[in-house]
Amino acid sequence: MSLDRDSFFIDGGWAAPATSATLQVVSPHSEQVVATVPEGSNADVDAAVASARRAFDEGPWPRMSPEERIEVIQAFSMLYAGKLTEMAGLITTEMGSPTSFANLAQSPAPWMQIESFLTIARAFAWEETRPGALGADVIVRREPVGVVAAIPPWNVPQFTTISKVVPALLAGNTVVVKPAPETPLDAYLMAELLAEAGVPAGVVNIVAAGREVGEHLVAHPGVDKVAFTGSTAAGRKIAAVCGEQLKRVSLELGGKSAAIVLDDADLAATMEGLKFVALMNSGQACVAQTRILASRKNYGAVVDALAETVSGMAVGDPEDPATEIGPMVAQRQQERVEKYIALGQEEGARLVVGGNGMPDGLSSGWYVRPTVFADVDNRMRIAQEEIFGPVLSVIPYDDVDDAVRIANESDYGLAGTVWTADQSAGLDVARRVRAGTYGVNTYTMDFAAPFGGFKASGIGREFGPEGLAQYTELKAIYPSAPAM
Ligand code: NAD
Repeated sequence: MSLDRDSFFIDGGWAAPATSATLQVVSPHSEQVVATVPEGSNADVDAAVASARRAFDEGPWPRMSPEERIEVIQAFSMLYAGKLTEMAGLITTEMGSPTSFANLAQSPAPWMQIESFLTIARAFAWEETRPGALGADVIVRREPVGVVAAIPPWNVPQFTTISKVVPALLAGNTVVVKPAPETPLDAYLMAELLAEAGVPAGVVNIVAAGREVGEHLVAHPGVDKVAFTGSTAAGRKIAAVCGEQLKRVSLELGGKSAAIVLDDADLAATMEGLKFVALMNSGQACVAQTRILASRKNYGAVVDALAETVSGMAVGDPEDPATEIGPMVAQRQQERVEKYIALGQEEGARLVVGGNGMPDGLSSGWYVRPTVFADVDNRMRIAQEEIFGPVLSVIPYDDVDDAVRIANESDYGLAGTVWTADQSAGLDVARRVRAGTYGVNTYTMDFAAPFGGFKASGIGREFGPEGLAQYTELKAIYPSAPAM
């Protein structure tokens, strides 16, 4: 079945593009074109924003009760649940996410987000009456912000789209989604499900396009809020525009998170955990914990165990269920990772596993060899900059205080873990590392809790009641005292 598309989702239907420009979706494994879709232009974004504006200013959606909107999103959730395998498969096809990861995080996790937001929305204080300080009651309402521009990246496209679209809709906003040019296909399936669920015309509009058209959307006067996930460099630019225009903005940006291995950790269990937390999605994850901190006393044992674990990981075709590390999303990403591998060697780090060149048994596709560097100083660029690939740095520490210091010595503050037999020692470390999410002997995302970054990892939070509140404006109403 062809995955080609020839239109955008605007105003509740399939709209012809304003230009003949196209995006080619290329398989990172086969390097073959797997689909062609229209590439959005500024004119397409203008049409999408106009449709979202109309739906917000004149349409039923913002005027429906939260319960009525919950009913529609509940229908969407049920339809989404029926398409999990198809959705995960599309994402594996378009960006090379290993199917083992895709069938966990690329569609089941977004569906769990929808369910979680529904639970949160049912209990949310949309309107409350509180005793005022002046003797009369005050009504406090949460109203929608308006037209939301949702801009996701390619690495976890549905995960970062649903995290914006669903809370925005539950709160009564209308949305323009601009998928990344590498991953437009999953958003088409999402559009079909939203339409089938009964989301009214214009409430969600989808135009896949590149960076410049993204800039046009961010600066568009018809947009009230920007919800962005992507690189810190792009996040800074977007924040500057939103600051100038006083637009609401939430930013989920990059990371360089640390996994701290304490001396009492069960090394075998830690290695099993690190395979996931450090190398999920082939290392293309914002929360990937690519700095592994090991004590000087235990350093050799941790490096050896990690070397054995990483060299034993299955690299190859992302469609193969046994694959643990797939290709990079694009040739430019493969080149970027290879540059960092060369840089690590120039900086004096010791290459223990991997290095540049194609992984054994592969001659095409945008693969890199999973790589481990030892003797890494935290000030090296490979320890400070987000590589976004399967490249790990093992950094020695003197004692727990030193480990916490190194973990915090980063511009970022997104995630982290500590591995230890002592739960309370782990919790102590968890409280001291400046990061938005932290795991003790595990790393997970619970959608009932807020997710986001300290420092250059972002502004605002997704998930939990906090992630829903980001799509609302607070209003206080002072009712006049009832006539006696
Ligand atoms: P990117 O910043 O290049 O692009 C992200 C999206 O923004 C794309 O849709 C792109 O077209 C668009 N874009 C880029 N510049 C823009 C601009 N100035 N104005 C408007 N739109 C713009 O990032 P990427 O390479 O697609 O994704 C990888 C990055 O995303 C990594 O840094 C990763 O850490 C980050 N990320 C963060 C999280 C999180 O939740 N914190 C989750 C996933 C990915």
